[in-house]
Amino acid sequence: MSGSPHVADALKGFGTTIFAEMSALAASTGAINLGQGFPNYDGPQEVLERAVEEIRSGNNQYPPGLGMPVLREAITRHQRRFWNLTYDADVEVLVTAGATEALAGALLGLLNDGDEVVMFEPMYDSYMACVAMARGRAVPVLLRPQADGRYAFDEADLRAAISPRTRVILLNTPHNPTGTVFTRNELECVASLAHEHDLVVISDEVYEHLVFDGASHIPIATLEEMRERTITISSGGKTFNTTGWKIGWACAPAPLLDAVRTAKQFLTYVNGAPFQPAIAAGLDLPDACYNNVADDLRRKRDLLLEGLRHAGFTTYKPEGTYFITTDIRPLDPHGDGVSFCRQLPHTHGVVAIPNGVFYSAEHANEGRHLVRFAFCKTEELLNEAVERLCAGAR
Ligand code: PMP
Ligand code: GLN
Repeated sequence: MSGSPHVADALKGFGTTIFAEMSALAASTGAINLGQGFPNYDGPQEVLERAVEEIRSGNNQYPPGLGMPVLREAITRHQRRFWNLTYDADVEVLVTAGATEALAGALLGLLNDGDEVVMFEPMYDSYMACVAMARGRAVPVLLRPQADGRYAFDEADLRAAISPRTRVILLNTPHNPTGTVFTRNELECVASLAHEHDLVVISDEVYEHLVFDGASHIPIATLEEMRERTITISSGGKTFNTTGWKIGWACAPAPLLDAVRTAKQFLTYVNGAPFQPAIAAGLDLPDACYNNVADDLRRKRDLLLEGLRHAGFTTYKPEGTYFITTDIRPLDPHGDGVSFCRQLPHTHGVVAIPNGVFYSAEHANEGRHLVRFAFCKTEELLNEAVERLCAGAR
């Protein structure tokens, strides 16, 4: 929470992101960081080498406003290869400073004062802040755990959230932090409401390749007549283990993309020249490389899932992403995730993220007892973390 009297009204209450707070806590205590989602291992060598070559060969100045053609073309090939979606690299693809900037650009570019954005919660923490910066209004719809532990929404809740002021539905699949991969039925429900009320859908698909156990990622733009009203957002960070490079993108029909570009050009303008061709090389890697990323993460998920259960947490098995949501109440009857996460580095040498921060104030109770652990770490580190969590308080 920011106490500064200088913070603009729209941003009061947003304070410091939980990711910064918890990663700083990991650094100061030396705890294992299973909080902020970043891997402790590198991505494909071809991708890394390409960035080095680009820097050495002088690709160190501003790239073009839309992003380098080599990357925009690779993005269109990727969208066609995996999802059978066709985009024109010249007018329907925009390279951004991570998916975060694409989201900000989309919301700032589309919203007028008081426009409503329906979004599923829990949600990635930049969503509410960006809607506030765009002077819009966030209208959260709860994802709740079902009998089988999978988080899902109730169609009636979604319908009830839509008003004459709704402009956008903001979707995230595979979903952070719950690990839900939206099914075709769920997406059809979103799509039919978007048609009925003439809404734009912003679809955050940064975990598009991190899905397990036969779950399939379905971009909502592939549903009938949805391409025309959808801004699809992704980035190279999760797929290629390059979260620090912040190379993201948005794909949309030209009139929608133009709204994103108009805002984006006054945020960073451009970023990451040498990283853009490197991510392009990643996007063109053979299917086997993508399958390996998912297979490797599934093994890590199973290892941490088993370990967290052993340590006494109730766990929710994710179908995608690299996060596991847990319920801490078997270990801590008070069930306050924020104080649990502030203590955990000191008592057990592990950092996690309290899911409460992913909920709006009105639904804070829904996430109070939940804590998220990231499993994008080497098996050695995950084993060490599990050992620590299973040991008594240190
Ligand atoms: N959306 C979701 C759901 C995320 O978890 C993240 C975290 N990286 C982002 C967007 C931001 O992606 P980037 O790092 O590419 O800005
Ligand atoms: N997306 C990552 C997470 O949810 C990191 C986000 C960030 O650091 N802003 O942990």
